[in-house]
Amino acid sequence: MGHAQEGTELFPASRLRAVAVAAGTAGLDALLLTPGPDLRYVTGYNAHESERLTCLVVPADGEPVLVVPRLELRGVHASPAGALDLEIVGWDETDDPYALVARRLGSVAAVGLSDRMWALMVLRLRAALPAARQELASVAVRDLRARKSAAEIEALRAAGAAIDRVHAQVPGWLRPGRTEADVAADIRAAILAEGHATADFAIVGSGPNGASPHHTAADRVLQRGDTVVVDIGGTMPTGYCSDCTRTYAIGTPPADVAEYYQVLKDAQQAAFAAVRPGVTAESVDAAARGPISAAGYGDYFVHRTGHGIGLETHEDPYIVAGNSEALQPGHAFSVEPGIYPGPSGARIEDIVVCTPDGCERLNQASRELIVASA
Ligand code: ZN
Ligand code: ZN
Ligand code: ZN
Repeated sequence: MGHAQEGTELFPASRLRAVAVAAGTAGLDALLLTPGPDLRYVTGYNAHESERLTCLVVPADGEPVLVVPRLELRGVHASPAGALDLEIVGWDETDDPYALVARRLGSVAAVGLSDRMWALMVLRLRAALPAARQELASVAVRDLRARKSAAEIEALRAAGAAIDRVHAQVPGWLRPGRTEADVAADIRAAILAEGHATADFAIVGSGPNGASPHHTAADRVLQRGDTVVVDIGGTMPTGYCSDCTRTYAIGTPPADVAEYYQVLKDAQQAAFAAVRPGVTAESVDAAARGPISAAGYGDYFVHRTGHGIGLETHEDPYIVAGNSEALQPGHAFSVEPGIYPGPSGARIEDIVVCTPDGCERLNQASRELIVASA
């Protein structure tokens, strides 16, 4: 796997070296990555989480090693990690894998632990490496993970198209007399049928529940005149995630909804139009807030404008006031303003990617208030 293919491969072999360099730059002697998005990002290995230690040890200088339970060796070798220039060491049920990691590292002053490592492992690694300061691996890995490669953008584009196909079916499921949970079950089945490996969430917020941004789906019965916030997503077999919100109306929406929905559409478009390299994350948030505040709904936009997305649904960069980091080509994130005045609410969410000269939407479904026939 030479450098020529780097742009087209989802998990290029060059990642191991890139994160080792980033660890050194961040003042870390090594990264210790347990199952989760960092490990998958670096090796392509989609390890399951368990109490048995799986740990990728990436010294800033030196050879990386993947420590795994012996009973999982076959699966590791069959994964993309098996094709890397990477030593893989199995440990037996009676071995101490933490001592094994410590022996491989020798004396180190600072290690970066994957952000989602279990406390069980954090504390055992602290005991095995008492002289090593523990930091978050994200100080080294976040910038790499945030700047998506062409192959990652293609994977996110496929995730976006898959969730668009689910949204296209939603109006047919929104019928008076059905519950939110009924609709969510249809949505979860469709998320899988349209190509995701897992259906991660299906928010169906109808009527007053639409004014609660993270309402999930409950036993409320849909009624004529409801607006319904539908925020759905899953993880594709590639590991990359989808996340898209549309707001629907069952029959003719109330006049106040039609009024603030137009404001919301303007806000989402303003934020989208603000995205280009060099612009700060917080200025995109401000762009979304502008039209909403000007129309008097500012107090009802109670969350940040967006979050990065990739191997996790929520990751860096966050599009929020106080984040002055400059956007770069390859940054992928949601643009999802909402207005929740009660007794209803609305949100529009697209995943976008910053391009060399602007921004590309990865969701193409109509952003109109979609009226499902009652
Ligand atoms: Zn959310
Ligand atoms: Zn969402
Ligand atoms: Zn989102």
